[in-house]
Amino acid sequence: MSPFKQFIFGAAQFQEREEHLEFQYRFLIVLILAVIAAVAFFLGALLWVEVDPSPARFVAPALNMAVSLALWLWLRGHKERLQTAAWVLEAVCFAVCVSALVLVPNDALRIIWLFINVPCVYILLGQKAGAMVTLSSMLLLLAGNPFFVAPYSGTELVDAVMGMGLLGFLFHVYRARSMSVYHRLQDSKERLRAMASTDVLTGLLNARAYYERCDQFLLATRRKRSPFAVLFIDLDHFKAINDRHGHAVGDAVLQCVGRLVAQGIRQSDLAGRIGGEEFSVLLPDTDAQGALVLAEALRRAIEAAQPEANGLRLSISASIGVALGGMAEQTMQDIQHQADLAMYEAKAAGRNRITLFQPPPQVTPAALAA
Ligand code: GH3
Ligand code: MG
Ligand code: MG
Repeated sequence: MSPFKQFIFGAAQFQEREEHLEFQYRFLIVLILAVIAAVAFFLGALLWVEVDPSPARFVAPALNMAVSLALWLWLRGHKERLQTAAWVLEAVCFAVCVSALVLVPNDALRIIWLFINVPCVYILLGQKAGAMVTLSSMLLLLAGNPFFVAPYSGTELVDAVMGMGLLGFLFHVYRARSMSVYHRLQDSKERLRAMASTDVLTGLLNARAYYERCDQFLLATRRKRSPFAVLFIDLDHFKAINDRHGHAVGDAVLQCVGRLVAQGIRQSDLAGRIGGEEFSVLLPDTDAQGALVLAEALRRAIEAAQPEANGLRLSISASIGVALGGMAEQTMQDIQHQADLAMYEAKAAGRNRITLFQPPPQVTPAALAA
């Protein structure tokens, strides 16, 4: 964001689902600033046009300007204050409209501001508030007209009240329609995102989404330095299952393992299918002991699963590499690579086992000299 925008809108942060809220927030701030500018212009014009304006005429606009300025400063950077700020601005503007209608006799077009108020309420506060303000405005015109210093004629009044009703009705329909389109768009965006990040076969995260979430996790917890672990799970001799029983049976085995992985982890853990018969799990707040316990539980569950295919019970197993993170400055790629190396060690040691990655011992000058 440019420094100018930062100054105007403050440092409010919006989630992706808050697109509409962000629009309302920015719209309200622009509206408040527009009110301040309009009142300043009005005050300038008053000084310019009237030779000897009475000081009393400055009181209401100056008050309006002060309230609007305070409102902008209060709202800047606080999206949670949007509703309250919008209602305060609405109350101020409605009061200004009423006072203009009642007190200003020589401006027949002063009624315009009451009309401009309605769309703003629909945009900022929604249908219920919009309908309420529309009806209040119609009532004000009908019941208040006899008390205005310069009342409108009967025909003018009918035009104004009918116009106000029509304006409210049009914005009511438009707001309902546009919000329903907006919500449907949000939902399909969400569905598309879920589809783009899910592995169709197992329902776990796909490789791209898994690595993306892992990177986000590392970024968010970098300063905490709490331990976490990564498991790399590779099915043993999976190609033989495909060759012997066919690809469809291989797929069923992958689905079965996907279910076991999903059932075996906590809600806060991340699990993804990162290759053909390869899975990875990120375990936040988990030390070596916790990771080894979980890896062993998964290994056993896979070994005991014996998924059924063509009336046969298949014996499957997995080799699992475990790597630890959180202590030193490592990238997620480093840790995943270590888990990968540990998994290959498990394969080399005979498969169907778990191996913890051990960093190579540091060679000290003293050891070299010996
Ligand atoms: P190792 O114990 O050394 O890991 O042997 P492996 O046979 O499991 O490993 P290898 O990498 O030789 O074979 C992996 C096989 O996984 C080869 C490929 O046909 C199969 N595969 C990859 N993706 C899928 C898939 O989506 N469905 C099925 N059914 N098979 C897949
Ligand atoms: Mg493999
Ligand atoms: Mg394999």
